[in-house]
Amino acid sequence: MTPSMLTGISASPGIVVGPVHLLRWEVPEVPERAIDESAVPRELERLRHAYDRAVERLRGVRVRAERHAGPAEAAIFDVQVSIIEDADLRRRVEDVIRQNFSAERAFDVVMLEWREHFARSAHAMMRERVGDLMDVHIRVLSILLDLPDYDPVDLPKGSNAILVTHDLTPSLTLQLDRECIAGIATDAGTRTSHVAILARSLGLPAVVGLLDATSRLTSGEKVILDATAGVLVVRPTAAELKDAAARARRERREGEVLARLTGEEAITVDGVRIQLLVNVDLPEEAAGAALSGAEGVGLMRTEFLVIGRASMPDEEEQYQAYTNVIRAFDGQPVVIRTFDVGGDKLPVGGYPHEPNPFLGWRAIRMCLDEPDLFRTQLRALMRAAVHGNVRIMLPLVVTIDEVREARALLAEAARELEDRGVAHRADVPLGVMIETPAAVITADSLAKEVAFFSIGTNDLVQYTLAVDRGNARLATRFTPLHPAVLRLIHRTLEAGRANGLDVSVCGEMASEPLMAFALIGLGLRTLSVAPRSVARVKQIVRGIHASAAAEAATSALDAGTAHAAEQIFRERLNAELS
Ligand code: PEP
Ligand code: MG
Repeated sequence: MTPSMLTGISASPGIVVGPVHLLRWEVPEVPERAIDESAVPRELERLRHAYDRAVERLRGVRVRAERHAGPAEAAIFDVQVSIIEDADLRRRVEDVIRQNFSAERAFDVVMLEWREHFARSAHAMMRERVGDLMDVHIRVLSILLDLPDYDPVDLPKGSNAILVTHDLTPSLTLQLDRECIAGIATDAGTRTSHVAILARSLGLPAVVGLLDATSRLTSGEKVILDATAGVLVVRPTAAELKDAAARARRERREGEVLARLTGEEAITVDGVRIQLLVNVDLPEEAAGAALSGAEGVGLMRTEFLVIGRASMPDEEEQYQAYTNVIRAFDGQPVVIRTFDVGGDKLPVGGYPHEPNPFLGWRAIRMCLDEPDLFRTQLRALMRAAVHGNVRIMLPLVVTIDEVREARALLAEAARELEDRGVAHRADVPLGVMIETPAAVITADSLAKEVAFFSIGTNDLVQYTLAVDRGNARLATRFTPLHPAVLRLIHRTLEAGRANGLDVSVCGEMASEPLMAFALIGLGLRTLSVAPRSVARVKQIVRGIHASAAAEAATSALDAGTAHAAEQIFRERLNAELS
């Protein structure tokens, strides 16, 4: 029997009620089925029919993606159509059918071969197609096997559905029709995984880390997605529905109270000013984020510009995207981070599959190894910088060499713009994210090379505690208040201060009221938070004494465990707010 409540992790708040839309975006099991000679023509016909339906479906998806996300993003679906129409692929699958394999078996075998071949290719262009091959693999097989739960977009308008899926990949995110989907529930993921970050950006309530929701739920079942509490109530009773409606109303009222803080200053009771900045993941979010009451952008994650794309955005397109964000913030500081691709970002396509992606070829490492791609981004950034107060930030730095190499490429990119006679700013301040123990431990040396530090606690916690930030099974072990993490943050601040550098925190930690209190206690004066958290964190700031937070931090730094540190902060914060 399905339990009436599934517990996961709150990734993006909100309470919604609706029918489950179960989506299995994974390659289905294909039953062994040999056919005899006489069945070959029928299997060939089934295959052609499946191709036609898949192409028809992709054309529909393309139209929708173009409307929601733009032509460049929608082009990925043209690529998938061209894979299905590829003559070599068709010939090879037909050959296998003629060896007495069923259409689904033949298609499965050939797609596995192709995916393997593309993934191992020395050419980036071919590796970039692996994700598309996988999408085609799933789509055509699910048609051949007549599986019901394999279409992300086949929903009537206004269905208010709760999308339940194993994990939300970038290409799936693109296909979602936000007019039909009211919330997201996933088996995988944690608060700091990129599904969660994206859901928060889109303002869609989301519960992640449910582990096995896809095997417990069926399409059409009514559920309450209480994403604020991180639970999913299955087939709710009338009383549960009434209670959920009451809580949703309460949340709305709280939201209204928080909205009144937008124009207020973020200043503690004892007069300490906190600079509250906002994290922007999608350029389209910028206008809304600018109204959140933040004083600028502490982190723009540019990798979301390339999500699900068939090709990298060129200099002009990037320039436009950055300029839109900079203009939305009208002279306020905007920190733009260079591509942090890899890890759990862009898990499909483009990059070789690695056994340890979080310890792999990601972020600054990838950018330095692909200098053309990196210089294109740097040129776009320097051009956009003419329109406002921009800083460039490098992700996942572990050594000064990376900063020096990036600086050399920045100088080269500036020369390229000079040669072209294009307006740009060559003196954009360059900073680094502090996301690894190596960066913290050498922060004093790094500080001599850069203009600012921003602590990325999502990664810093993962690399310090050796806890995969995206692994739902480890979610309770992902403890940003672990004394080891607190000490690393403290040490970073000291190194920054000693060298006159601005130090901020832009990891998700800063968006949580209790942890924001802890960070202020550790001495942070700039926090960059999710758009929806600006007002809530401001409310905390305005209700506390920085001195009380500092006292709590002094004890927490010496606490034995994350739990003990949390207790210290919680008791002190409660006392402050009571
Ligand atoms: C972080 O690691 O804390 C961070 C802000 O970067 P991202 O979450 O994009 O890895
Ligand atoms: Mg990071």
